[in-house]
Amino acid sequence: MPFPDVLEKLVSLCKRRGFVFQSSEIYGGLGSVWDYGPLGIELKRNLQERWWNTMVRQRDDIEGLDSAILMHPRVWEASGHVGGFVDPLVDCKVCKGRFRADKLQDAQCLKKPSKKPGEHSECQLTEPRQFNLMFKTHIGAVEDSSAVIYMRPETAQGSYVNFLNVQQSTRQKVPFGIAQIGKAFRNEITPGNFIFRTREFEQMEMQFFVEPGTDMEHFEKWKAARMEWHRGLGLDADRLQFHEHAGNELAHYARAAYDVEFDFGGSLGFQEIEGIHNRGDFDLGKHQEFSKKSLLYIDQAANKRYLPYVIETACGPNRTLLALLVNAYREEAVEGEEEGRVVLRLHPALAPIKAGVFPLTKKDGQPEMATRIADDLRKKFPVFYDDAGAIGRRYRRQDEAGTPFGITIDGQSTSDGTVTIRFRDDLKQIRVDAAVAGDVMAKHIASDLAVTESRSVAEEQH
Ligand code: ATP
Repeated sequence: MPFPDVLEKLVSLCKRRGFVFQSSEIYGGLGSVWDYGPLGIELKRNLQERWWNTMVRQRDDIEGLDSAILMHPRVWEASGHVGGFVDPLVDCKVCKGRFRADKLQDAQCLKKPSKKPGEHSECQLTEPRQFNLMFKTHIGAVEDSSAVIYMRPETAQGSYVNFLNVQQSTRQKVPFGIAQIGKAFRNEITPGNFIFRTREFEQMEMQFFVEPGTDMEHFEKWKAARMEWHRGLGLDADRLQFHEHAGNELAHYARAAYDVEFDFGGSLGFQEIEGIHNRGDFDLGKHQEFSKKSLLYIDQAANKRYLPYVIETACGPNRTLLALLVNAYREEAVEGEEEGRVVLRLHPALAPIKAGVFPLTKKDGQPEMATRIADDLRKKFPVFYDDAGAIGRRYRRQDEAGTPFGITIDGQSTSDGTVTIRFRDDLKQIRVDAAVAGDVMAKHIASDLAVTESRSVAEEQH
């Protein structure tokens, strides 16, 4: 059975709970541009930090970089983007719709959405023409063509042009990598599906420089490592797959390419969230040619000089964040309650808020004790204090935000100093000394297990 399409429900949950808002909404919105709200930015940061920790901080062979969005225009000539970063565009003369000629199967006729463009009797599609996806802008005060520059469509080129800067300043030896997280811009013909395809987005890209001849071995290692990483985010194994780029799908610069795909459910189905590419020496070679500066790596020990090959891992945090939300979204019945609940079963380490802190009532010293506990926990985790409304409601609000723990202060708490911890996924509760609530949470978050599994770990130890 295909996974259900939950995109529409997610768009409204994301607005209601402050994950993602439509850009410039009070002016009617700007199409396919989105802003990340208080919960969205926490989730995105957690995701990006997890990537940075795995790729940069926990390794001694990858260095971080933050190159500028604006680069010398020759960079994009050398990389092939000025000439070749194009998609085939067709217009419909009747409905004025614009479509990617190679993605008509995924598009809808604007007059009759049940049909694909070209299938309706009135459709009049033009011949495909090549449309460059780079945004152009001007640098300096004079708007003449000599000052045209581009908003980068990927972060990778910043890593290539800094290859020797990073290598020489860090004294890294090949094989080593350069990692970046940053914004990229593409004037996509058909953006859409919420934050799946937008014109402004972010990338988490890593370029691994290797000796020619060892490239396929490194490629295979990175392919396996990146799939493992996506599984570690809590994405269900049966929603993840590889897609191999074969034959004419393979970009002109690529020696091999695989996508990590996630099943977004509904008609969207399996789609790329990350690309793993063996780019050979195409990029360094082109920059060497265009800049006329040597980018050769000197291997002193082996007395060799060569242009390294590049294995690239290119992941989109926005798309991966959408995958996390789709994967986590559940509508569940709750035993003994008429109303069901909507819950985001996000991995505890990624959840934007780690705990809701709730005094059961607003009297008998409970709010004071709860405030003290919340203040204490806040030194380590983002927590949310809530004393408004029935306790069931307060739990539900945190379920929808994906908060893994609910800490409740009740009548017993003020007399013996204990609190209950409620677990989001299986709704079980344990009672622990208030002083160790933070340790229990930390263990769950660090254990990297699903909440239900880690609960038993915590129970054993407390
Ligand atoms: P697609 O085929 O979907 O256009 P791509 O193959 O051009 O993607 P890459 O250039 O490999 O994508 O970029 C790496 C990652 O950046 C993608 O896997 C995706 O997660 C993300 N990404 C690319 N384009 C967009 C976009 N327009 N909006 C959001 N994320 C994007």
